[in-house]
Amino acid sequence: VQHLVYPLTGLAGMWGAFQRSVAAMERVQEVFNEPPETRTLPSGEPLPEFKGSIEMKDIRFSYEGQTNALDRFNLMIPAGKVVALVGPSGAGKSTLFNLLMGFYKPQTGTILFDDQPIHLLSSSQLRGCTAYVPQETYLFDGTIRQNIAYGKDGASELELIRAAKEANAHEFIMSLPNGYDTEIGERGVRLSGGQKQRLAIARAILKDAPILLLDEATSALDSETEHQVQEALDRLMKERTTIVIAHRLSTIHHADLIAVVDKGRVIEQGTHHELLSKKGLYARLYQIQYSKERDELEMNKSG
Ligand code: ATP
Repeated sequence: VQHLVYPLTGLAGMWGAFQRSVAAMERVQEVFNEPPETRTLPSGEPLPEFKGSIEMKDIRFSYEGQTNALDRFNLMIPAGKVVALVGPSGAGKSTLFNLLMGFYKPQTGTILFDDQPIHLLSSSQLRGCTAYVPQETYLFDGTIRQNIAYGKDGASELELIRAAKEANAHEFIMSLPNGYDTEIGERGVRLSGGQKQRLAIARAILKDAPILLLDEATSALDSETEHQVQEALDRLMKERTTIVIAHRLSTIHHADLIAVVDKGRVIEQGTHHELLSKKGLYARLYQIQYSKERDELEMNKSG
């Protein structure tokens, strides 16, 4: 009897695994088959116009088999404001972005866009809510036009050029051998860091999502390029709710709110001056991370 039972339980186990993988495949297909522009809630009601407030309530999240990357994470961001996330490496800042883009779901807690829990949004609705500008711009082999148009299916030429102009990219694009049809990437023209960033910004402007997730680049650009990129970013941030993983002092100074993240939760929040006077983690980070930049600023002021 023993001999018979084991192979059967083995089979049952395999059947279970098979069923689970079929279910997983079906979920993947659901996502891919979804029409790109669903404008209703799962209940069939039309989606109210999204204004852009974000609320994270008691979020706990761990990557598979890991300790908590976010643990009782709470943050409220009013529509149209700029929030700077600062905190030590591994604090959970990028993980938060992953959740807001819907790449992972929190194990407990809720994320609300306006008053709508994001797990009720379809994946295409969720994708439409956020534009992400990473530290390192991802460009694929193809033309400049294709790389910008990636921000919006079926964008018109006019929209594309307007986005490039707002991103301070139009001029350098027009100076390339084939303008918007110039091939970039492996076999094409090599772009500078600042040019790549402006293409990423053009892409995000074209997407026109209400929430901007910005992972600020750490690499230094020359001051002219820096100015061009900053101006483009300022235009992109306008009238959008922005969460920025901040590496620059000026970004932090200009933010409406600074959230200090440590070990997966917000441990302090306020403006730059409020946080400095608390003499907590922010004040210490500020001392260590930004002292060089601050000294330069002060030298320029006095000089
Ligand atoms: P940094 O400033 O260095 O980018 P961060 O604040 O963005 O750090 P996260 O990248 O969110 O921090 O990392 C939070 C925790 O989750 C860390 O312990 C990290 O090792 C872990 N982690 C991040 N991404 C993954 C992943 N894909 N799989 C497993 N663990 C991960």
